[in-house]
Amino acid sequence: MKFQRVKGCFDILPEGEEAWKTSKIWRDVEKTIHDVCALFGFEEIRTPIFEYTEVFTRAIGDDTDVVSKEMYTFSDRKGRSLTLRPEITAATIRAWIENGLFQTRFRKLYYIGPCFRYDRSQKGRYRQFHQFGAEVFLPDDPYVDAEVIDFLITLYRTMGLKNTKLMINNLGSSRERDRYITDLKRYLTKHIDALSSDSKVRFEKNPLRILDSKEECDLQIVHGAPKLKSYLEDATLQQFEKFCSLLNSLNIEYHVDELLVRGLDYYQGMVFELVRSGDTSRQNSLGGGGRYNKLISAMGGPDEGGIGFAFGIERLIQSLTEEENVLIEITSPDVFLLPLSAAAKDNLFLLLSELRKKSVSAELYCKHLNRSEEHTSELQSQ
Ligand code: AMP
Repeated sequence: MKFQRVKGCFDILPEGEEAWKTSKIWRDVEKTIHDVCALFGFEEIRTPIFEYTEVFTRAIGDDTDVVSKEMYTFSDRKGRSLTLRPEITAATIRAWIENGLFQTRFRKLYYIGPCFRYDRSQKGRYRQFHQFGAEVFLPDDPYVDAEVIDFLITLYRTMGLKNTKLMINNLGSSRERDRYITDLKRYLTKHIDALSSDSKVRFEKNPLRILDSKEECDLQIVHGAPKLKSYLEDATLQQFEKFCSLLNSLNIEYHVDELLVRGLDYYQGMVFELVRSGDTSRQNSLGGGGRYNKLISAMGGPDEGGIGFAFGIERLIQSLTEEENVLIEITSPDVFLLPLSAAAKDNLFLLLSELRKKSVSAELYCKHLNRSEEHTSELQSQ
C-alpha cells in the first residue's frame, strides 16, 4: 500500500524541486513577518485550527462561496458541528472577545497559520494553505487604515517583493451599501438572462460580488451598472479622501478600483487588495482586507470598529521565488566529526554533545547521512 498526501495539500521540505516548498524560505518569511509586526506594535495570537461552525457562518456569511461551498465541516462524537478554519479573522475576533482582550491594551493582533478550503486545487489554490493576517480593533479612522497599509507595504518591501499593485475602494456604511444593492439588483434584473451562471447564483445571494466577476458576459453588464460611489455620503467620501491623502504622503502608490468588493460579507468602508502586477490569472491576489465595523458586535463583542487583512503565504513565497529574490541556502554544520575507530566514536559522541552545548552546530558521521558520505569520500580522496 502506498500512502499519498491529500489532494490539494503539499509538503514543505528541506530541499526540493520547487523552491517555494523549501522550509528555509518559509522560516525566513515567517521571521520577517514576526519582525515587522513587532516594529508596528502587533502582538501574536494563535487560535485552534477548528472552531464551532457558527463562528464562521456568523462572521463570514452563509451566502459566501467560502461558507456555502468550501468549508471542511464535520460532527464530533457528540454531534457538535465543527469546522476547520477557512480563514482566521472570525477565530481571532472570537478569541479577542472570549478572553476579554477588549478590556486590555491588546488591540493590534496578528497570526500565521494553516487554513482549509475545499477549493479546486491548482497553482496558487490549495486545500490546506497558510495565511498571515492582522486585525486592528480600533475605531473607524483614516490614520488607522493608512497605518495598516503602511505596515503591509513595509513588510513586502522588507521581503524584496517588487511586482505588486495596491487596489483600494470604499464600500460605504451598511446603510449606504444596502441602498446601493437595492438599485444594483433592480438594474441587474433587466439583464439576468445574460449573466454568467455564477453571477445568476450571486444575484440571489451576494449581488455585490457580480461587480468583480471576470467573466466576459458579466463585464459588459457591470459596465452599465449604477456606481457605488454615487451612493456614498459626504462624510464617507471625505474620510476616504483623507485616507488617500495619507497614502500619498507616505509615497504609497495605489489605484482606486470601484469594482473591488472582496468576497466576504463582513467588509464595509475601506477595502483593499494587493495583486501581482502583470498576472491576469484568477490567483493573482496576494491578499487583501478592509474594515468590518459591525462584525465585532455581531459576534457578541463590544460595539468596536475593526480593520483586518489576510495574505496567502504560498502565493507570497511563489512570487518571491519567481522574482528570484530568495537565496536558497542549505546550511551545513560548522563541525563534522568522522570517527576512524569504534573507540573514537564513543569520544566523538561526547564531543558532539559538548560542541552543541557551546552552540556550535556539529554532526557525527552516520552512514545514512548523505552529507557524511560525501565527506567520507572527500576525505578518502585527499
Ligand atoms: P480571502 O480570505 O479569500 O480574502 O483570501 C486571502 C488570501 O489568502 C488570498 O489573496 C490568497 O493569497 C490566499 N488564499 C485564499 N484561498 C487560498 C487557497 N485555497 N490556496 C492558497 N491561497 C489562498
